[in-house]
Amino acid sequence: MRKSWRASVFTLMPEMFPGPLGLSLSGDALARGLWGLETFNIRDHGIGKHRNVDDTPAGGGPGMVIRADVLAASLDAHIAPDDKRPRLLMSPRGKPLQQRRVRELADSEGTIIVCARFEGVDERVIAARGLEEISIGDYVLSGGEIASMVLIDACVRLIPGVMGKEASGAEESHENGLLEYPHYTRPREWEGHVIPDVLLSGDHAKIEKWRREEALRITREKRPDLLK
Ligand code: SAH
Repeated sequence: MRKSWRASVFTLMPEMFPGPLGLSLSGDALARGLWGLETFNIRDHGIGKHRNVDDTPAGGGPGMVIRADVLAASLDAHIAPDDKRPRLLMSPRGKPLQQRRVRELADSEGTIIVCARFEGVDERVIAARGLEEISIGDYVLSGGEIASMVLIDACVRLIPGVMGKEASGAEESHENGLLEYPHYTRPREWEGHVIPDVLLSGDHAKIEKWRREEALRITREKRPDLLK
């Protein structure tokens, strides 16, 4: 049997976990042991009585920077050198997360994630510990924790056994380079709007064709960049 997918998260706010990941689909799967989550408080390796983790930026400027030695000590204390899981650093400078990468991560043994705060981490620790910067979008959050939850949630739902029907992943938006076709459910007529006839026709070939065309139309309208 394959070992269950495991996320190891380094953070200054371990209280934020599992948070929303402990509920609903991901929470049920967590309780069933389909995946695992452990958090490590970077502050446990902080300096001195006050367990300082940050200092002022070299060269001046606002904010504080997480120290390389502190973060490295935390990582080294908990991650075995032969741990092959990707080591990610949540960062607005990173490569934007896409479904393809989510699938890769979900298919692996899990992931190690560093969540930064303040201005981020000392640049030197990124290369020295082989951290891959990943962004969840072109905007700035106050910390990497919510970003890491986004990434973990996206991965966990793809782990075999987590979603009810294995099939429900494959047709979704971004899985085949297209956005998903529209969905409808009862009642057949609502506020004067009816469900497209074809969906009630029972003709599966015709339904599939309609859905393919709609997926293309919607992608062309909303995200023409995806078709390039
Ligand atoms: N000074 C940094 C921003 C720091 S925001 C800069 O300009 O690049 C504080 C932390 O929140 C970041 O270090 C990162 O861990 C997290 N974070 C902020 N925005 C993010 C995003 N879009 N994707 C992933 N992580 C993000």
